[in-house]
Amino acid sequence: FVVLGIETSCDDTAAAVVRSNGEILSQVVSSQADLLTKYGGVAPKMAEEAHSQVIDQVVQEALDNAYMTEKDLTAVAVTIGPGLSLCLRVGVQKARQIAGSFKLPIIGIHHMEAHALVARLTEKDLQFPFIALLISGGHNLLILARDLGQYVQLGTTIDDAIGEAYDKTAKWLGLDLRRSGGPAIEELAKEGNAKSVSFSVPMKQHKDCNFSYAGLKTQVRLAIESKKIDANIPISSASKEDRLARADIAAAFQRIAVLHLEERCERAIQWALKMEPSIRHLIISGGVASNHYVRSRLDMVVKKNGLQLVCPPPRLCTDNGVMVAWTGIEHFRMGRYDPPPPAEEPENFVYDLRPRWPLGEEYAEGRSDAR
Ligand code: ATP
Ligand code: FE
Repeated sequence: FVVLGIETSCDDTAAAVVRSNGEILSQVVSSQADLLTKYGGVAPKMAEEAHSQVIDQVVQEALDNAYMTEKDLTAVAVTIGPGLSLCLRVGVQKARQIAGSFKLPIIGIHHMEAHALVARLTEKDLQFPFIALLISGGHNLLILARDLGQYVQLGTTIDDAIGEAYDKTAKWLGLDLRRSGGPAIEELAKEGNAKSVSFSVPMKQHKDCNFSYAGLKTQVRLAIESKKIDANIPISSASKEDRLARADIAAAFQRIAVLHLEERCERAIQWALKMEPSIRHLIISGGVASNHYVRSRLDMVVKKNGLQLVCPPPRLCTDNGVMVAWTGIEHFRMGRYDPPPPAEEPENFVYDLRPRWPLGEEYAEGRSDAR
């Protein structure tokens, strides 16, 4: 069977058509990166308008590229949370409109579950239970996936996510933000010496699996100020010396930001194995998981602890429609879906949108461990 996936939870409008055997028939992403640089962040109203402008075209392209029409689909999957309601609504409305007109079942998807489960599309050998580290601009989660729909949250961020720290550091270092900050830092860090600036690893004294990136952000900002780096001078016109100073900070930031991930993953593996001794894999996903330094450092930690690291290719790590379609396929197989909506939705119909939606229960033992 064949599922259309639609994703509009944040700043990318994405759609994809995927076959139940995991074959990706098409994948279309329209990014609002240009808007973001211009206004320096996601403004909900503006993001909603941008989604509305392109949603029809993105879905049509996904169908065309798959050489299909709506009639060939088995079901429609759409992200219903977490994310900005205004943005989620655009995708959900489109999905219900198609499902209503063509009498297709509809599957509401959790964005972070989709980030995690896409690893099962790319790695056919990936069985439950497994551990997932989900790292992006808005989330920093460590999850034990016991089974489909059965998740335990081992850790989350108490303030910012790592992607947010990458993005701010990039902005303060005057990097080219037409791409997102992460890849720009990753590139620049290769030129720098990570040990030339000393930052401290967050939350050392907390023996849990939670994350914090606000303090590291402050450390970076202070270092940038003390080195008199001017973000208004783009890196492309910086002197050689200035460029090196920026590269050092980028490298030092990246080293500590990732060390924090390494320490938390190490503990998460111990916790998770207590609950599920048969775990063999730790997967990483979310935008930051496309970073090569992140991948190689975590590969070491995971191997050292006797597990195997799985990371989807970069274009499936950042927000995309494939992960939504695939998660739809996983749920549909288990009979978890809603019947087709009416062709004409009643005017006052209230959509099921879940802007804040935790993925699974918190790990209780872990919380007391921490005290
Ligand atoms: P959400 O948090 O809701 O999952 P998001 O909007 O953060 O969504 P993603 O596409 O999953 O979307 O992640 C984007 C984030 O990933 C940005 O913060 C970006 O800087 C970061 N990122 C992307 N590529 C890299 C990279 N190579 N290195 C580090 N960070 C990266
Ligand atoms: Fe995401």
